[in-house]
Amino acid sequence: RPRVLSGIQPTAGSFHLGNYLGAVRQWVALQETHDAFYMVVDLHAITLPQDPDVLRANTRLAAAQLLAAGLDPDRCTLFVQSHVPEHAQLAWVMNCLTGFGEASRMTQFKDKSAKQGADRASVGLFTYPILQVADILLYQADEVPVGEDQRQHIELTRDLADRFNGRFGETFTMPKPYILKETAKIYDLQDPSIKMSKSASTPKGLINLLDEPKTTAKKVKSAVTDTDTVIRYDVVEKPGVSNLLTIFSTLTGTGIPELEERYAGKGYGALKTDLAEVMVEFVTPFKERTQQYLDDPETLDSVLAKGAEKARAVAAETLARAYDRVGFLPAK
Ligand code: ATP
Ligand code: MG
Repeated sequence: RPRVLSGIQPTAGSFHLGNYLGAVRQWVALQETHDAFYMVVDLHAITLPQDPDVLRANTRLAAAQLLAAGLDPDRCTLFVQSHVPEHAQLAWVMNCLTGFGEASRMTQFKDKSAKQGADRASVGLFTYPILQVADILLYQADEVPVGEDQRQHIELTRDLADRFNGRFGETFTMPKPYILKETAKIYDLQDPSIKMSKSASTPKGLINLLDEPKTTAKKVKSAVTDTDTVIRYDVVEKPGVSNLLTIFSTLTGTGIPELEERYAGKGYGALKTDLAEVMVEFVTPFKERTQQYLDDPETLDSVLAKGAEKARAVAAETLARAYDRVGFLPAK
């Protein structure tokens, strides 16, 4: 079985619709066909200012949401990144192989540090793409299911795998991005020129899966469209409407042409009302299942402990090989 690896940050508490459609939904499907490793990336979550108690609670909450979304600990390895110290260890080696200019070109860093103010952005934020390189290479992942915003980091991973293999001998598997075209980028409902994001969305444009379903419905109904009334998929002329069609289509399994036909001549109100209903039907049981997992923290923690053990077995082997190749003297 080919291997997949991916992660999600435990910042912000609730996952949003972009996380689900762009990434987590694919994770659930891939556990059936792949040897799948999925993690809550708490090391990444401290690249921006954070509160310890909130981080702890959100890490459990992220794991609960992943289970609620359909990850099955018998079919995949689900773990917390900081439980596997090899991530930080391999990241150091990768930091030393990355050019300063190369790291400076990462657009996610540029976006996030610009928002922080250059002086306040941490060095951790600067090197977080390189930690991500280590995350992926440690598991010898063949594919990495993510949203479009992560494509550049997977390119960097490929460059560094190639560089390490070339310099020290064949060590790492060359990973490929696994990005589904339709859902690669879900947009903010109030500003369809920016991606829906935990850290950068407008509150009204961000569909949190754990919001009250009423709130979700309201946000869908007040989504920004355009001054025209025609329901047509056209990302250039009609980014708002196209975003709604993508969401509708993916959540219901209805093709976009079929939706265009169904809503021909009906106007945006009808589309939004029906999509609001679809969303409510999706988030209501999701929220309930998440709460059930949270209500049983012992089971949740034991799932994560088993996951960490399985992950460490793989990560430790890769790290040992990489350390040896680099020339570190084995500890006897
Ligand atoms: P932040 O803004 O803090 O980076 P985020 O919203 O990007 O948060 P992450 O935890 O960084 O959330 O991302 C988890 C996964 O969700 C990644 O694979 C990412 O590519 C994907 N993802 C995030 N936002 C979107 C989006 N709007 N559309 C599609 N996929 C997305
Ligand atoms: Mg992100």
